[in-house]
Amino acid sequence: MDRADSEKINPATLRPEELEAVYAISRAVALAENIDSALDEIIRLARPVFIFDNMVLFLRGKELLEPAYARAIGRGRFKEAELSWGEATAYEVLQTGRLLSRIEEGGEEITDRTRFRFLLGLPLYLENHLEGALVFIRFGGPPYTPDQVRLSEFIAGLVAQLIGHDRLVKHIAHLEAERKLNQLQEDFIATVSHELLTPLGFIKGYATTLLREDIEWDDQTRREFLTIIDEESDRLRELIENLMDSSRLQAGTLKMSFQPLRLDAFLRDVVMRALSLHDNIQIELQNGLPELRIMADASRLAQVFDNLLTNASKYAPNSTVKISVIEEQQSVHITLSDNGPGIAAEHLPSLFKRFYRVPNPDKNVRGTGLGLFICRQIVNAHNGEIWAESKVGEGTTFHIRLPYNQQQADQVLSLRESNQ
Ligand code: ADP
Repeated sequence: MDRADSEKINPATLRPEELEAVYAISRAVALAENIDSALDEIIRLARPVFIFDNMVLFLRGKELLEPAYARAIGRGRFKEAELSWGEATAYEVLQTGRLLSRIEEGGEEITDRTRFRFLLGLPLYLENHLEGALVFIRFGGPPYTPDQVRLSEFIAGLVAQLIGHDRLVKHIAHLEAERKLNQLQEDFIATVSHELLTPLGFIKGYATTLLREDIEWDDQTRREFLTIIDEESDRLRELIENLMDSSRLQAGTLKMSFQPLRLDAFLRDVVMRALSLHDNIQIELQNGLPELRIMADASRLAQVFDNLLTNASKYAPNSTVKISVIEEQQSVHITLSDNGPGIAAEHLPSLFKRFYRVPNPDKNVRGTGLGLFICRQIVNAHNGEIWAESKVGEGTTFHIRLPYNQQQADQVLSLRESNQ
């Protein structure tokens, strides 16, 4: 009998309830979301017309047959044993590529109906490749009727289709993930190349200009050009450092060294440094800061605040940044509020993503979209959280919450002092 013919059901020989089951199974398979739920449905719909105790699906794995789905319907069955009976049949089906119907006898010591097992093994063909076997087990008979055998072949045909469909869906998902990854990598290279080439362009341009032998530069111009080269080299170094930090943070390989840190003194330092670097913002540090000691990596945490204050000078120039500290039960909550132009609500959820930048009509404001990503990674490494709140036209507030355990910080400190 030809394989395609064998799966055909002759409606004339089927009883009405069998015909109904065939239609219901076809419909259920067409609507099923995944293989397992489709197989559950098949079993539920086939059982009233086709009695079996067990159905096992075996698929060709890398080396051997692997059970992909097993369902014991009869009560009190030992699944392992039943699976191994099915396995022997599945192997044989795979060797011959044909339907196999046989009866196994368990031995006289078995007194219940599992002594006689009626096994039906069906090959699963997918585009002419034998992909596995579907095995039905019935305990104690009666033998399968020709119509039941045809029904089981019909089910095997549907199961093979399901496997094909499942593979296709997985393959498409894989291609889609690959496409997204390629797109990400391309975006990454485009952004990074652009950001690296901009300072490099300045450096090269001004250096070449200074080297021209046909022009005599006066001292002031030469100094001006050299200052640009100097500043752009700093920017290039900062960009490369940011890139390296961001990939180490992403990979979790950036080492942190946690030490007790006096938060009030730390913030005063941060403010002093920012004021010396940016002359277009004012900073107001809350009066009477609480004298808290937290466990932190001081230089990494300083990077967070430097970044936020540099952003304030870039995106909220001429504003006053207010820094305050709120002591909470298990944490300290630090806020930095500026009264700059603010950030539209639709950008807030993406602000801390790698390379995310709010479109800015002012092309002179440069950046990579790495700063806030790095801030979040560092704060997360402190078991803290960072988020932004903003209103267009009013300003932006960055919140940082860090866990705070004065007792632990004091203990570490006193231990260290006693060891000195
Ligand atoms: P970059 O400054 O390199 O663009 P960041 O990750 O530091 O990257 O910041 C992401 C975006 O968040 C910036 O492009 C900017 O649009 C916005 N942003 C950050 N801080 C502020 C601020 N204080 N006010 C308004 N916008 C801000």
